[in-house]
Amino acid sequence: MAANTYDMIVIGAGPGGYVAAIRGAQLGLNVAIVEREHLGGICLNWGCIPTKALLRSAEVFQLMQRAGEFGLSAGKVGFDLAAVVKRSRGVAAQLSGGIGHLMKKNKVTVVMGEATLIAADRVKVAGAGKTRELSAKSIVIATGARARELPGLEADGDLVWTYKHALEPPRMPKRLLVIGSGAIGIEFASFFNTLGADTTVVEVMDRVLPVEDAEISKLAKKAFTKQGMKIREKSTVTRLERGAGVVTAHIEKGGKTETLEFDTVISAVGIVGNSEGLGLETIGVTVDRTHIVVDEHCRTNVPGVYAIGDIAGAPWLAHKASHEGVTVAEAIAGGQPHPVRPESIAGCTYCHPQVASVGYSEARARELGFDVKVGRFPFIGNGKAIALGEAEGLIKTVFDAKTGELLGAHMIGAEVTELIQGYVVGRTLETTEAELMNTVFPHPTLSEMMHESVLDAYGRVIHM
Ligand SMILES: Cc1cc2nc3c(=O)[nH]c(=O)nc-3n(C[C@H](O)[C@H](O)[C@H](O)COP(=O)(O)OP(=O)(O)OC[C@H]3O[C@@H](n4cnc5c(N)ncnc54)[C@H](O)[C@@H]3O)c2cc1C
Repeated sequence: MAANTYDMIVIGAGPGGYVAAIRGAQLGLNVAIVEREHLGGICLNWGCIPTKALLRSAEVFQLMQRAGEFGLSAGKVGFDLAAVVKRSRGVAAQLSGGIGHLMKKNKVTVVMGEATLIAADRVKVAGAGKTRELSAKSIVIATGARARELPGLEADGDLVWTYKHALEPPRMPKRLLVIGSGAIGIEFASFFNTLGADTTVVEVMDRVLPVEDAEISKLAKKAFTKQGMKIREKSTVTRLERGAGVVTAHIEKGGKTETLEFDTVISAVGIVGNSEGLGLETIGVTVDRTHIVVDEHCRTNVPGVYAIGDIAGAPWLAHKASHEGVTVAEAIAGGQPHPVRPESIAGCTYCHPQVASVGYSEARARELGFDVKVGRFPFIGNGKAIALGEAEGLIKTVFDAKTGELLGAHMIGAEVTELIQGYVVGRTLETTEAELMNTVFPHPTLSEMMHESVLDAYGRVIHM
């Protein structure tokens, strides 16, 4: 077996891996990337992109039902789930194919197959009935993660689904149970509920979207409940009894157990890292509960071996993975990139209404000892929101009262997943309230609410 030698080998072609490969190639490195399934990883094939395509169909469906409000008529509004899913799969395939072109354009060698580390500078790849060895001084592990399976709640693809099954559903659920109200669970709950499934969400924590600011979780619950979703907080699904076309869920709350029947269950109880079978123990890489332990520069404890993206721990987001890909490639090429600051990475949930945030929640900022100033601005006070027919929502900002630093921003409402980036740029530039207040926001836009929320924190709000 001849070993092909590169400057950098990347294992896994998700957003972390393919971005690392492109950035490395831009910097003149000879790069190989190994992928066992699809270019684009979970993000393009089974995560971010196909879910957004499904949610767009749900959004259009919901708007069509409201046609009368806009002076329009839309006849009999309906949907064909197979066609909705076909569109989503088509969008995923288009983008995954695009990654192949980007690899070619950047002269990155793509090796399809399963990679195993056999030394800190050597990788064995098994694929298409062949085994090859590649070597490089620097190896970047970007193998991502998969759905966590809890004992007794394992997916079977028929009655109980993971996100993969839910993206290619065998039928439209009538009575749906979603276990877990993080971003993935809530996005599927929102999609199927909008299409008419009788949807129940069970969350073990005391509120839905538990990583968000408590005020935003409360507004999200109110909106979901208004749309007909049943939300059960501080509750645990302890058992699923599977029958013919029916699942009986045992749901425990405060020591009492209730049983409810569903025809479909989506388990969205988190993820586990793809760390097994990689040879990590052979080369001595430290792993903590399926995630590779790294420092702020994504270095593992083994010199020359890096880990990025979902395999390297939270936050489990594509833009965190790809940004780490850039920084690792720059470090390998001899640069000195800035470490990624987790508190400046925005989190977005594309349910209806959308939710987005960056930085500390109000409670977390107080816990950390900050004296805070809080601003709020509701969508009902914004002309564009009313014109769009999207007058429900809130933008909340949290400032350090002493320095004026923007500590956090929390939003719920139409298009907030696009708006949040304004505050992300602000945080990266270490903006204070003064610059935000002196910035001129275009009118009429939803972004004006971002201005008003800051003004509110300092007693200067105009339209409220
Ligand atoms: C349903 C869903 C919706 C999501 N929505 C969003 C969203 O809206 N926004 C967001 O930011 N994030 C979202 N995410 C999370 C996002 O998909 C991940 O954070 C992102 O894909 C992580 O990128 P990665 O490069 O670390 O790994 P991945 O995208 O998981 O890619 C890892 C790749 O490594 C390959 N691989 C693994 N082991 C080997 C091996 N031994 N040899 C060769 N190849 C290997 C895998 O086949 C895979 O292609 C979503 C996730 C899911 C499941």
